[in-house]
Amino acid sequence: MKDTKDPQARLDALRADTERRNPAQPEFHQAVREVLDSLAPVFAVRPELADPSLGLLERIVEPERQILFRVPWQDDHGRIHVNRGYRVEFNSALGPYKGGLRFHPSVDIGVVKFLGFEQIFKNALTGLGIGGGKGGSDFDPHGKSDAEVMRFCQSFMTELYRHIGEHTDVPAGDIGVGGREIGYLFGQYRRITNRWEAGVLTGKGQGWGGSAIRPEATGYGSVLFAAEMLAVRGLGLSGQTAVVSGSGNVAIYTIEKLQQLGANPVTASDSQGYVVDEKGIDLALLRQIKEVERGRVSEYAARRGPSAKYVAGGSVWDVAADVAFPSATQNELGEEAARTLIRNGVKAVSEGANMPTTPEAVRLFQEAGVAFGPGKAANAGGVAVSALEMAQNASRSAWTPARVEEELAEIMRSIHAVSYETAERYGAPGDYVTGANIAGFERVADAMLVQGLI
Ligand code: GLU
Repeated sequence: MKDTKDPQARLDALRADTERRNPAQPEFHQAVREVLDSLAPVFAVRPELADPSLGLLERIVEPERQILFRVPWQDDHGRIHVNRGYRVEFNSALGPYKGGLRFHPSVDIGVVKFLGFEQIFKNALTGLGIGGGKGGSDFDPHGKSDAEVMRFCQSFMTELYRHIGEHTDVPAGDIGVGGREIGYLFGQYRRITNRWEAGVLTGKGQGWGGSAIRPEATGYGSVLFAAEMLAVRGLGLSGQTAVVSGSGNVAIYTIEKLQQLGANPVTASDSQGYVVDEKGIDLALLRQIKEVERGRVSEYAARRGPSAKYVAGGSVWDVAADVAFPSATQNELGEEAARTLIRNGVKAVSEGANMPTTPEAVRLFQEAGVAFGPGKAANAGGVAVSALEMAQNASRSAWTPARVEEELAEIMRSIHAVSYETAERYGAPGDYVTGANIAGFERVADAMLVQGLI
């Protein structure tokens, strides 16, 4: 890389170099670019962090370790399938690698690296001593029997077990990996290692080492972050109409917390379409369809009655709302959707998913003065409660739901505060993207600097 002292030129050169060395990984390029684009103000104040002789930036964009493996498994009819397994152990300066596993056909090494890169800074923002990692597989759990999912998880863990551990790397859930999958993965880890090592995975069932409020944490946290952003503007969530995308774990508990705080979430979606319910989402019905029957949101509209309408293939962002919660997947909210939301008067956007908003859409929200909470800050509640689960496991205790929820609320307040204050300090008031990226980066960079060349 070009050995220049000019920080912006260094960042541009690093970006180009990263793209060249990691071809065909557009999501990873996007995630790196978004962070690097925020960092120039730091180097103006702390030039040592960009000092070419330290190579700190070059190290931060390169995972410490990348694991790729074959996952063979047998379906219910005796046929063999081969999927690919991944674990990217990105950065352990602040603690053991920590981050979820995603099972989805779109998973490839670039997707896992984007998620792992985001996770480094997100986890740093929680202040809880966790490094960044991510993993998964291109396996599609959709339409598979429980027995097939179990055999897949057992095969996946038969390779993964040798790389993880409570002090090494602690996976959890993400898209396609929930309580069922974590159960099968934990069972196989325990069987292979002959260890009851509760802290090796988080998102466990509450009867066997899981934390209260972990399933709720990402969605709850994203709503609490939105509430904090609105409070800065003298606004609240009560009485606000909310548009929520997705219908997985994050979306469901986003809807639940919004309803608890007196807002009216009116949508849910999946990859085939969305439902809009003018009376507000009936959460019991949505959960029955999604969590019990593992069905589609189209069924919600069919069963809910006249207040709900299903729009096949449409964009959930067409629905007018005061606040928006993209809680499905990466790049689900683009320029056109942002324009529509702005035109409809949206006041805040809180990212429940990882990188759901495209860079162009983020820019539009910021230019329009919409409060925008980036995923690294807004959805950090999930991994934060995972760290609380590790703490409970280490002390062989189980905290009450009320205690975990209080801690979650405090963590979200502090993530909001540090993002807000850092943005102010670096001359970008109200810009949570800059604030969160810089605050997370400073914590990781400072730890790396004093730990020598690693
Ligand atoms: N997959 C979640 C995330 O994106 C949670 C990770 C965890 O709990 O380790 O942050």
